[in-house]
Amino acid sequence: MSNFKYKRNRLYCEDIEVSEIAKNISTPAYVYSYQSIVDKYKELKSAFANIKPLICFSMKANSNLSICRILTEQGAGLDIVSGGELYRAAKVKADFRRIVFAGAGKTEQEIREALKLNILLINAESKEEVEKVNTLAGGLKKKVQIALRVNPNVSGGAHQYIQTAKKENKFGISLEEAKKIFLQRKKFIHLNTCGIHFHLGSQITTNQPFTKALKKVIPFLSQLRKQGIEIKYLDIGGGFFQSAKQFAQAILPLLSNLNICLIMEPGRFLIAESGILLTKVLYLKKRKTGKNFIIVDAAMNDFIRPSLYNVSHRIVPLKKTPITSSAKGEVRQRRQPAVTKRYDIVGPVCESGDFLAKNVNVPFIKTGDFLAIMDTGAYGFAMASNYNSRPRPAEVLVKKNKFYLIREREEYKDLIRKEKLVHSQ
Ligand code: PLP
Repeated sequence: MSNFKYKRNRLYCEDIEVSEIAKNISTPAYVYSYQSIVDKYKELKSAFANIKPLICFSMKANSNLSICRILTEQGAGLDIVSGGELYRAAKVKADFRRIVFAGAGKTEQEIREALKLNILLINAESKEEVEKVNTLAGGLKKKVQIALRVNPNVSGGAHQYIQTAKKENKFGISLEEAKKIFLQRKKFIHLNTCGIHFHLGSQITTNQPFTKALKKVIPFLSQLRKQGIEIKYLDIGGGFFQSAKQFAQAILPLLSNLNICLIMEPGRFLIAESGILLTKVLYLKKRKTGKNFIIVDAAMNDFIRPSLYNVSHRIVPLKKTPITSSAKGEVRQRRQPAVTKRYDIVGPVCESGDFLAKNVNVPFIKTGDFLAIMDTGAYGFAMASNYNSRPRPAEVLVKKNKFYLIREREEYKDLIRKEKLVHSQ
């Protein structure tokens, strides 16, 4: 059940009226519900309870230390893609034996850091990477576990940029190539080549891409085992965005009798619906052509998903009367007959691609009103930038009737912190 709901026409996050946060912390600001994050983790854990998977939170979705810690405290491992994420994992005292490391372009330094900390698995994405990990492990006098990331050539993902398992994508290696590496495993004396990994894409709302991929990968895995290759881990990545129960019902029958440690790497599933982005209406602008704009104080630098992936997010007012929202991102009138105008909700950045919603019906809105962009807990702050020299927003965590600033709003001085003013004369 959502922890963001209206009580007496005011939007609440758990037991906090959200407008209280907007007034105290100002806008734009991301607000997360502690309880929602825990509930989502438990939903997934219990759906797969009979095989006890290792659920590795995909930190790229939201790497705020407090958010990661909520999940690691619940027992989650972490899916990382960079040395920076490993650094954050160490800061929250994550269990390194529950960390998997993916990414098509890991540097030597990143691999060495991960090997030194004895993470569970390096998910290698090319033969050259396998060779590199072997050499670096040798240098550290270690034998380390790796999985091969295979590319099963399956489409999944709501937008071409977030599809990762088609043969034209840069990720992973083909099953044939993976087989060759597995067969040559004895050559890599510092590696225990014991896992298979795939990740299909993001925002996958049906089971079909997963069942399709598993129907290719499981026979492959069984074939390897028949050839004496021990495969301990099957990592099915993240990307699923549906009910955990339905997902489990589709996946579990395929895994029965496989005797494998299943790893999952959910990002969006755990965190997307646990967060909102608060913003304030700065101006209303009407064109003679009939085009109307609501200009708000959040922009594509704060939340880039609408501009980058053309996705629509529900936008709702913090005060419901007299407006409320429809399920399709439309802000609509409540009870009264709709006197709607069509608006684009846009930010202050100097790009026509800077929009949060397009062509939505808005019947009544005025300057100074607050809005919440819903389901922005994943790939929201994590993809924020300083474009247009805009300080990045604050992040707030709500737990019952208390809220905590978990990242301060950036200030102008943060914008130039690493810059050097070079005098050319
Ligand atoms: N695992 C890998 C390797 C990924 O690349 C991603 C996202 O890009 C994820 C997991 C998480 O995906 P999602 O947040 O859609 O669950």
